[in-house]
Amino acid sequence: MNPVDYLRISLIDRCNFRCQYCMPDSQALKFLGLSEVLTASELLALIGEVFIPSGFTRFRLTGGEPLLRPDVLQIVEGLVAFPQVKDLAMTTNAFLLANMAQALYEAGLRRINISLDSLVPETFTIITGRDVQGRQRWQQVWAGIQKAYDVGFNPLKLNVVIIPGINDHEVLDLAALTLDRHWHVRFIEFMPIGNADLFGDRGWIPSQDLRDQICDHWGLQSGQVQGNGPADVFQIPGAKGTLGFISQMSECFCDRCNRMRLSADGWLRPCLLNETGQLDLKTPLRARVPTSLLCEQVQDLLELKPEINYKDRQSGTMGASYTRTMSQIGG
Ligand code: SAM
Ligand code: SF4
Repeated sequence: MNPVDYLRISLIDRCNFRCQYCMPDSQALKFLGLSEVLTASELLALIGEVFIPSGFTRFRLTGGEPLLRPDVLQIVEGLVAFPQVKDLAMTTNAFLLANMAQALYEAGLRRINISLDSLVPETFTIITGRDVQGRQRWQQVWAGIQKAYDVGFNPLKLNVVIIPGINDHEVLDLAALTLDRHWHVRFIEFMPIGNADLFGDRGWIPSQDLRDQICDHWGLQSGQVQGNGPADVFQIPGAKGTLGFISQMSECFCDRCNRMRLSADGWLRPCLLNETGQLDLKTPLRARVPTSLLCEQVQDLLELKPEINYKDRQSGTMGASYTRTMSQIGG
C-alpha cells in the first residue's frame, strides 16, 4: 500500500458550468447553503490540526469550481504557510482564471490542472452546458490557460474526458497541444458518477484505444511529469509536453491509492468509488470537540481504507450507489 498523504479538497459544490458528465441536467442538484460550507478558517484549522498531524502533506483544491470561492486566495496563502505542505495544486475550469492567475501565483500556487474537453467552441458549449455564452466561453477558458502559462504555472496540465460521439474525433488535436508547448494533456476515462443517462447512452473509451490512435500517428515514448496521481505518462517523440492517461475504468489501481477527499461541507471520504466510511468533520469541529479526537477518527479511517478501496469493484456495482455527483464529491 502507498502511504495516504494526499487530500483533495472541494472548496465549493457549485459551478458556473454544467458539464454533461458531471452535473447533467437530468440530475436534481441540491446545493449546499452558505452556512453548511466550511469557512476558510475552519478548513485551515482542519488542515493544521487534523490532516497534517495525520500525515497529509499534499493537497489539491477542487470543486465544483474552486475559483467561485471569494476567499480562494486566503485559502491558498493559508495552505502554503504550513511548512509541512510539500505540494499544493488546483483543478479549475479556467473560466475565471485569466483575471486570477497572477494573484493565485503570488499567493503561492504553482501547479494547476485545467479541464478542456474540446478545441471546438461549439462542442465545448455542448459539453459544458447548453445555455450561456457559446463561443465566448471557450475563448475565455483558452485565455485563462494562456495566462496561467504566461504567469509561470508549471506543470500546467489539461484534463480531457473523451465521450464517444461527442469529442472522440479530437483526440489527435488535443494531443497535438503538447508538441510545441510545455503543456501536459491528461486523458481521464469517463466514469459513471451521477450521470447514468449519458453514460448508459454513450459508454466510455479505454485509454489504450486513445494511446493506440496517438501512437499510430506520431509514435509514443514514456515520459515524466510532476504529479501525485495514477496517470501513465507518455510523450510524443520531440514534444515539449507530455500525455497522461488516467484509466480508472479499465485498470484497477485501488491498491496504489494515496488519497482521500474532503467535501465542501466537511465530509471526509476515503474512496471516490463508494461511500463507505464517510466521516463528518464539520459538526464536531463546530461543536468544539477537541481536534485531537478528530485526529484519532481520521487515523481509524486511514486504517480501514485498504478494505474500503476495493468494495464496489469487488461487488461489480461501481457507481451504482452514488448519491453525490463528481462536482459534489470534489473530483
Ligand atoms: N470545476 C473544476 C474542473 O472542471 O476542472 C474542478 C472540479 S471537476 C469535478 C474535476 C475533474 O473531474 C475535471 O477535470 C472533470 O473533467 C473531471 N470529471 C468530472 N466528472 C467526471 C466523470 N464522470 N468522469 C471522469 N472525469 C470527470
Ligand atoms: Fe463544473 Fe468542473 Fe463539473 Fe464541469 S467538471 S460541471 S466545470 S465542476
